Amino acid sequence: MARLVMKFGGTSVADLDRIRNVARHVKREVDAGHEVAVVVSAMSGKTNELVAWCRGAAALHDAREYDAVVASGEQVTSGLLAITLEGIGVNARSWQGWQLPIHTSDAHGAARILAVNGDEIVRRFKESKQVAVVSGFQGIHKETGRITTLGRGGSDTSAVAIAAAIQADRCDIYTDVDGVYTTDPRVVPKARRLDKIAFEEMLELASLGAKVLQVRSVELGMVYGVKIFVRSSFDAPEDIDPHGEPPGTLICNEEDIVEQHVVTGIAFSKDEAQISVRHVPDKPGVAAAIFGPLAEASINVDMIVQNVSADGATTDLTFTVPGADYERASSVLKKAKERIGFDRLDGTTDVGKVSVIGIGMRSHAGVAAQAFRALADAGINIRAITTSEIKFSLLIDAASTDSAVRTLHSLYGLDK
Ligand code: ASP
Ligand code: MG
Repeated sequence: MARLVMKFGGTSVADLDRIRNVARHVKREVDAGHEVAVVVSAMSGKTNELVAWCRGAAALHDAREYDAVVASGEQVTSGLLAITLEGIGVNARSWQGWQLPIHTSDAHGAARILAVNGDEIVRRFKESKQVAVVSGFQGIHKETGRITTLGRGGSDTSAVAIAAAIQADRCDIYTDVDGVYTTDPRVVPKARRLDKIAFEEMLELASLGAKVLQVRSVELGMVYGVKIFVRSSFDAPEDIDPHGEPPGTLICNEEDIVEQHVVTGIAFSKDEAQISVRHVPDKPGVAAAIFGPLAEASINVDMIVQNVSADGATTDLTFTVPGADYERASSVLKKAKERIGFDRLDGTTDVGKVSVIGIGMRSHAGVAAQAFRALADAGINIRAITTSEIKFSLLIDAASTDSAVRTLHSLYGLDK
């Protein structure tokens, strides 16, 4: 017997037929003797609709009321799944975030989970084998008693947090792909599903553009040692052996991966913007004057490149922000022009970012140099480069992104 969390995303609960399919997946595990907590997203498209309603009601609205509205999508699917489970003879009940409770910070719209109480779920496992169907994406702020949400894609994080709280053996993320791939198969048809990937690598992949999991869920999994298994929800539930090894990708500790590769995957994003601040004074406090206001505006900065000045007087600073934040970032900087003291602001949204990830890079030299050669041969110009221990990122023209990804995917032997 195992204790499992099963998480189903929006496409897996998109209508009543799919919810019935989910119920059969759950029944399979229950029949096999497992204790099961299910976490569900809202029906696909629902959260977007709720967000649009809030905006339509008032462009500038109270984030607490936004949460009251957008949390409702998950309430619907948890109730419907509990009804459906009962209908096929599985003892189940739904739980809202506040009922467990799942305590969060009060950062409405992007709250962080502080504590999850799984006692009642576990008590009911023991007492009556009851399946818990928990609404993902939502929690409650203890002091104010108000409903909170965890940011888009947050039900992954709900699932991993609940898995940690009830000490589940595994957190299964059922989704519309059957695992994590070396890169997006829509760009590289030869992309392969990974059997295993280390938490750290997954963290990079998720942060750098792969949309399989919310980044925060991977962080939580790493901290609490939750085994996360990404698998398909579209396989016929009865065809799966609950004691066998289904196809999917296990996100786990580095030590649990026997077959190590230097490069594990390639992430990319075409939704990037480059901003260059020209001729800033080369003196203490300048970077703080640039990035402080951007942080205050909650704009996420990724690649940052600053050169050592030639004359000791001024230098250029280049960085990237999400494409959607380009206008806002530019206007924040223009407002701070006096304080920063720059000459000119250059920028474009016509850039793409390609990142090569692998823990093997820690112990192998020359991995990035190979990429520079291959891209040069393909005639692709590199605008900026950043590196860390287990990845490097390249900023290139947006139009070259796909071709760069394909070139690097085969360069590092991921096609095979
Ligand atoms: N329904 C929420 C969203 O669309 C949460 C989730 O699906 O994970 O962002
Ligand atoms: Mg998702």
